[in-house]
Amino acid sequence: MVTDIKSLPEKISHKTADSFRLLDNQSITEYISGIGITGWLFNFLNVVLTREYGMEASEQSAVNFLIMFDVPSDSNADYELFGSDHEVFKIKGGSQHLADALYEQVKEQVVLNHKLVAVEENKTRDYNLTLENNRSVKILQAPYVLLTLPFTILRKIRFQVGMPAEKRRCIEEIGYGNSCKFVIGLDTKPWRKAGKQGYTFTDISFGCGWDSSQRQSDEKGSFTVFGGGHSGDNMLKKSKDELIKDFIPGLETIYPGSEKAYNGKQVKFCWVQNPFSGAAYSSFRKGQWSTLAGWEAVPVGNIYFAGEHVSRDFQGYMNGGAQTAREAAGLIAEKITKEG
Ligand SMILES: Cc1cc2nc3c(=O)[nH]c(=O)nc-3n(C[C@H](O)[C@H](O)[C@H](O)COP(=O)(O)OP(=O)(O)OC[C@H]3O[C@@H](n4cnc5c(N)ncnc54)[C@H](O)[C@@H]3O)c2cc1C
Repeated sequence: MVTDIKSLPEKISHKTADSFRLLDNQSITEYISGIGITGWLFNFLNVVLTREYGMEASEQSAVNFLIMFDVPSDSNADYELFGSDHEVFKIKGGSQHLADALYEQVKEQVVLNHKLVAVEENKTRDYNLTLENNRSVKILQAPYVLLTLPFTILRKIRFQVGMPAEKRRCIEEIGYGNSCKFVIGLDTKPWRKAGKQGYTFTDISFGCGWDSSQRQSDEKGSFTVFGGGHSGDNMLKKSKDELIKDFIPGLETIYPGSEKAYNGKQVKFCWVQNPFSGAAYSSFRKGQWSTLAGWEAVPVGNIYFAGEHVSRDFQGYMNGGAQTAREAAGLIAEKITKEG
């Protein structure tokens, strides 16, 4: 693994594909079994990576695993499955505060409750953006456009603008996960009584979950079960009562007292059902790093793209949305200055 990780180029994209195509053409499960990982370690990695990317590890590119795994610096050091800077921060009061704070600064320019349904070139070489809601349709003309919609949504709207076939293919095809969360209310935190922090991966029932009230309360709290791949489909299909029946016994086995602590409250959210995301976050399928990666951010005329799915450094994270939008805004400002 160390050799393979070190063999990856600094910039992983279709342009550097020759150096990693062999790895990209393997799924994570093909790769890990190919290097001799079997038994519990195979099962563990399979559960962890399926849940993390929201797609069966057998469908994902092995590159997803290799770019995230931090190799221990020496044999006494720990390894980091998700890299050393994973989940270091949490936003007090919830992540929505970040979007709310940004909105406060620009609200005069924001048009809410309108859905973008079409982007088309017009004769003056501007773009027509069609925005709709239940009551009206607005057509805005814009010389520059920054599209931050997930590609899952962009591929469903009318996007009639000339572009290279590879760019179109990237928008149409990049993989996305189907993550679901099922949040279980608990009057106590049985994992704390067991001296644990609560972050759990298991091959029984719920598969993966964590204390979603960490640093918010010591007593009452919630445990979030995180589904993805087949387990995400299962969570989507089943009712909340069925999920409680499936998950609580497993939780009880690992953290005795969970059954008694369950307070009857639960929330389920599956991102594939959200009409504004259509999926969780991007997750490259086998073969996509060597063919589609590198096309995500490429502008088309004066249309620019940003979002987690466009980010090389923080794909699947909020940082990715922030970083790529800042970069795209900089490029647009530069172009406006040049074009006068
Ligand atoms: C289950 C789950 C867990 C996650 N955990 C973490 C985590 O712990 N840490 C972390 O950093 N990140 C996490 N993320 C990822 C993070 O939420 C995303 O990376 C981030 O939200 C991506 O930002 P974005 O701006 O690219 O896209 P989005 O946040 O999806 O923003 C796109 C926006 O476009 C809008 N939109 C969509 N369609 C239209 C349309 N037709 N017209 C107008 N507007 C439209 C949407 O309403 C939305 O507001 C998680 C994501 C999920 C799903």
